[in-house]
Amino acid sequence: MNKKTVLVTGSSRGIGRAIALAFAKEHYNVVINCVKNKDRLQALCQEIEALGAECLPFVGDVSQMNVVTDLFNAIKNRFGHLDVLINNAGISKIGLLSDMTGEEWNEIVNTNLSSVFYCCHEAIPQMLQTHNGKILNISSVWGNVGASCEVAYSATKGGINGFTKALAKELAPSNIQVNAIACGAIDTEMNQFLDEEERNALIEEIPSCRLGRPEEVAHLTLQICTQNNYLTGQIITLDGGWI
Ligand code: NDP
Repeated sequence: MNKKTVLVTGSSRGIGRAIALAFAKEHYNVVINCVKNKDRLQALCQEIEALGAECLPFVGDVSQMNVVTDLFNAIKNRFGHLDVLINNAGISKIGLLSDMTGEEWNEIVNTNLSSVFYCCHEAIPQMLQTHNGKILNISSVWGNVGASCEVAYSATKGGINGFTKALAKELAPSNIQVNAIACGAIDTEMNQFLDEEERNALIEEIPSCRLGRPEEVAHLTLQICTQNNYLTGQIITLDGGWI
C-alpha cells in the first residue's frame, strides 16, 4: 500500500513543526511549509528524513492563492495524492482595532483564514476521488470567546470555527472529516512578546499551572486525524482548563 501524505502549513517552528514530526514518526510522507525561515525548514526536512519518512519542503506564502496552487502541484508531482491537510500557518497582531491599518487587517485575514480556503479548495477534489481524507484546522480559544486587543485575530479564528463546522457537514457524506483544535496558550515563538511578569500572570490564570506544549497539540492532532472516521465538525479546546 502507498504511504499516506500529510501537508502541514506553517511548520518551520512551533506547533506546525511538532505536528510534522509526529506524522513523520508514523511514517507519513510529510510536506512542510513556511514563508521566511528557509533554513529552519531545511533542517526540519533533514530531521524528518532521519526518522525514515519522506519530506517535501515548500517555501511559499499560503495567504496567496497562486502560491497554494504551486504548492499542491509540487505535492502532486512528488507524492501524487494528499490524505491529510493540517491548516496551521498563522500570525497574530496585538493592539487596538482602531489602530489597525487596512493592510494589517488584510494580512491577518489572508494568512489565517483565506489560506484555509485556498488549501481546502485544492485538497478536497483529491480527497473526493478516494472517498477519504482528514482536514484539521488549528484555531484558538480567542475564536470561541474573543480577546481584547486581538479583534482581528479572534475574527479569523472564529471564522475558522464556522468554516470547520460548515465544511464538515458538506464533506461528511464523502467520508472526509473536518475538525479544529482551539488552542489555549501554547509555548511557542508566537508568545515571545510576553515579558516574564506577563508570562507568570498568564500562567496563574491557567488551572493546569503552565502553558501547553506544541507536542501536546501534535499528539491530539494525530489522534483526530488517524483514529476516528465518525468525529467531524468539532472545535476541540486544548487549553489546560483556561477558558
Ligand atoms: P509560530 O509563530 O511559532 O509559527 C508560525 C508558523 O507559521 C511559522 O512556521 C511561520 O513561518 C508560518 N507562517 C506564518 N505566515 C505564513 C504564511 N503566510 N505562509 C506560510 N507559512 C506562514 O506560531 P505557533 O506555532 O504558535 O502557531 C501555529 C498556529 O497555532 C497558528 O495558526 C496560531 O494562530 C495557532 N495558535 C497558537 C497559539 C499559541 O499560544 N502559540 C494559541 C492558539 C492558536 P516562518 O517561520 O517562515 O515565519
